[in-house]
Amino acid sequence: MTTISRIAIIGGGPGGLMLARLLQVRGFAPIVFERDHHADDRPQGGSLDLHAETGQRAMRLAGFEREFLAEARPEDQGDRLYDSAGRLLFDRDGQGDDRPEIDRSALRAILLTALAPQTVRWGAKVEMVRPSADGGYEVVFNGRAERFDLVVGADGAWSRVRPLLSDVVPIYEGVTLIELGFETAQHPQLDALVGNGKMFAVGDDRILIGQRNGMGHIRGYAGLRIDETTARTLQEAPADRIRADTLAAFAGWADTLLEVIERGDLLAARPLYALPVGHHWDSRPGLTLLGDAAHLMSPFSGEGVNLALADAVDLAEALASGEGWAAIARHEAAMIERAIPAAAGAARGLQGTMSRDGLANTLDHYRERASDEVIR
Ligand SMILES: Cc1cc2nc3c(=O)[nH]c(=O)nc-3n(C[C@H](O)[C@H](O)[C@H](O)COP(=O)(O)OP(=O)(O)OC[C@H]3O[C@@H](n4cnc5c(N)ncnc54)[C@H](O)[C@@H]3O)c2cc1C
Repeated sequence: MTTISRIAIIGGGPGGLMLARLLQVRGFAPIVFERDHHADDRPQGGSLDLHAETGQRAMRLAGFEREFLAEARPEDQGDRLYDSAGRLLFDRDGQGDDRPEIDRSALRAILLTALAPQTVRWGAKVEMVRPSADGGYEVVFNGRAERFDLVVGADGAWSRVRPLLSDVVPIYEGVTLIELGFETAQHPQLDALVGNGKMFAVGDDRILIGQRNGMGHIRGYAGLRIDETTARTLQEAPADRIRADTLAAFAGWADTLLEVIERGDLLAARPLYALPVGHHWDSRPGLTLLGDAAHLMSPFSGEGVNLALADAVDLAEALASGEGWAAIARHEAAMIERAIPAAAGAARGLQGTMSRDGLANTLDHYRERASDEVIR
């Protein structure tokens, strides 16, 4: 059987770093190639809720239960829903739920703490991965090439590894999120609007989101249904223009809600892309994918990071089994199957919310979830 000893992980996001940690615990010495120059190179994005059977389980198996509990915010699991006139239609405090939130930067810091020195090559932007003459694959980065027995694509939406396994590319979902940042101390009115967790305001193909983050921050998102070319243009536009266009799209909404667009620091325009539900490939020795690189979906299922962490757990187990490529192929099939309901739910959630009936759909969704809890 082929020995798999030299392992490259492309991408130091949650999935890649979790895999590196779990492999080190099992005696492997993987290398992580990460294009960021250091852990706090760029704003990492909003808060994430980790679910019991996937994200939290991974943290426990990696030995980070204590660190996670120290950083997690179980008090921030509430949901609120407003209409475009600012009327509160649904309010659930989420106390007692088991999906505590954690900031991405805090999660990354935890995952990095226990890695052996030099595991992560910061500032290593992988340009391509190509077959090497003696079997295995070469990772080409910063003008150099290095050979590995196994290359894992944990490099997210625009993976450089995926094209070696699949011709499929992510498809624009018709919705772009404008991301804004706030400090709660400076925005008490928004602080009150969001409550303890997350608020949605939904109406006619549009959504405003306020999400409580750690360290006194709130992240806001304004969701617009625009075509891909407009989205790309917006991504390159100056902040004033993005703000003006977004405000124009929300004309007529309550002033209390418009504060999300008017006052926040503009952080990014994020067009939402997804891989087709059930994206799969023929397993090939020497290469695999995990997380968003394998099953990119919109954030409307809240499962993306949870699946990435669970994929890392299962891939580490497959590698440690000593059964070689066959175990990886079995793991890939199970990973692809597991992502299907989440990806389908994310597509349904996004299209159902960003529609003419978005408000009614979202209210139904929240009420169903609340009644499920009562029945349980
Ligand atoms: C606005 C928004 C909100 C979201 N909210 C949630 C949520 O609430 N809950 C949830 O579960 N999920 C959420 N998600 C999804 C979640 O962020 C992803 O599913 C998760 O981050 C996937 O982890 P990953 O490790 O697979 O990939 P990523 O987090 O994308 O990490 C990939 C890493 O690879 C690096 N990289 C990329 N290309 C290269 C290269 N060529 N060379 C070297 N390094 C490279 C990147 O810098 C990055 O560090 C959200 C996503 C978005 C866009």
